[in-house]
Amino acid sequence: MKRVVTGGVSHETSTFTPVPTTLEAFEERFLVRGDEMLKIFEKTNSTIGGFIDGAKKHGFELIPAILAEANTGAPTSRQTFDDIVGELLDSIEQAGTIDGVLLELHGSMCVGDLDDPNDGIADAEGYLLEKIRKRVGSEVPILAELDIHSNVTELMIENADVLLGRRSYPEVDMAERARDCADILVRIWNEGIKPTMALHQIPMVWGMNQVTAHSPMKEAIAELRRIESNPGVICGSIATCYFLADVPDMGASVYVVTDNDRASAQRYADELGEWCYARKEDWHFHMPTTKDALALAEAAGKFPVIFADMRDNTGGGSPGDSTGTLQTFVDAGVRPACVLNITDPETVNQCHAAGVGATIALNVGGKSTPLQGEPVAMTAKVVAISDGRFRYAGPMYTGLENCLGPSAHIESNGIHVILTTLREQPFDTAFALSLKLDPRAMKYIGVKSAAHFRAGFEEWAGAIYVVSEPSVHDLGNLPYKRLKRALYPLDNT
Ligand SMILES: [Zn+2]
Repeated sequence: MKRVVTGGVSHETSTFTPVPTTLEAFEERFLVRGDEMLKIFEKTNSTIGGFIDGAKKHGFELIPAILAEANTGAPTSRQTFDDIVGELLDSIEQAGTIDGVLLELHGSMCVGDLDDPNDGIADAEGYLLEKIRKRVGSEVPILAELDIHSNVTELMIENADVLLGRRSYPEVDMAERARDCADILVRIWNEGIKPTMALHQIPMVWGMNQVTAHSPMKEAIAELRRIESNPGVICGSIATCYFLADVPDMGASVYVVTDNDRASAQRYADELGEWCYARKEDWHFHMPTTKDALALAEAAGKFPVIFADMRDNTGGGSPGDSTGTLQTFVDAGVRPACVLNITDPETVNQCHAAGVGATIALNVGGKSTPLQGEPVAMTAKVVAISDGRFRYAGPMYTGLENCLGPSAHIESNGIHVILTTLREQPFDTAFALSLKLDPRAMKYIGVKSAAHFRAGFEEWAGAIYVVSEPSVHDLGNLPYKRLKRALYPLDNT
């Protein structure tokens, strides 16, 4: 039986956020080893879950090493990264003779102090893949699934046999792409295909107009599929980049894998990359404030209406306690309304101390930095409290358990707020429901999410407005200093 090591390190790193990424941040999300990894991810819509499916389908043995995954935040320390990488490499060593490596990576991780060449690593995945390549040699295939928001580098391309990016946003295809990786690995063994990759780095930052179910992103994915239908092409990917990273290779890209034909891999990557660049304005859109969007929503009359505050998307590395949308709801007196979720451990503690049913004066949110807005003064009733444990029920992470730490549901004049200790965007309604709040019963809904919330909300929403409220992340004001190429629209290329 063929033997394949699996695991990985997955972190989207913002060089602009004050939210640290400690060892605890990995422990709070996933820092799992050995059989525990298989137990947690089996039958879930996740990357490792897809590798497990692939192993079952094709009958190869999956050897779980270590998986480290933390929520988006600032660079993790070099020490923490080195410890995780060391453990992954040791596990590969201890596995003995192996026939492949299947990895979960993000593609936009950086580590340590980037101003210190002895400490900082701007391309953590390239670094990690190079180490694994040295350990396993050139004959053992290395395949990795990447996030759609990756900043892909030549070092990553050189040291992997196959990189395959997600092609749905919201990223509901985690398991599906992992199963594709497993299928390709089996073709390497059985058909003798020789994956050969090429990268085309596009001179642009992809804006947030990238929900794959809608135009114009739908057409980009169709174009990707057209490229993939060419003879000899094994797979291709579009990376819409992660723009909150001041690293040399930040920017959108296309990467294509062919069967042993480097020149055509490059030609197809260039063709698709140029297609994307020719439409560079299409990937950006104007975002109104919640207040302006509220006026539009009232005029349109389609409810429930969702206001997605993209700037305070915890999935993008924001602190999750900005108050712009909540303050707008309070000022406008809209009801029934809710905001999902505000990260505010201090207020959660007050709620837990007061107990369910109590009415207390609270200052909600706005505590991490003044950039996130002022706290909102509310006299609110504590409707429910919990330890934050729940299980995802929507199309993303389906079936997976998570814990957001002590949490609370408060209500004041028909405005409900879900408060958490740990940062998390709402991928579906399961967490709110665990705290006795049914978002479907609301008329006005604020979420701190760019697009992933759509997985569990779009189907039943009357209207969705992507809005912008003050936060630590504002593309127009980010002080980039390490970019190696000019990028639209930053440099107006
Ligand atoms: Zn992503």
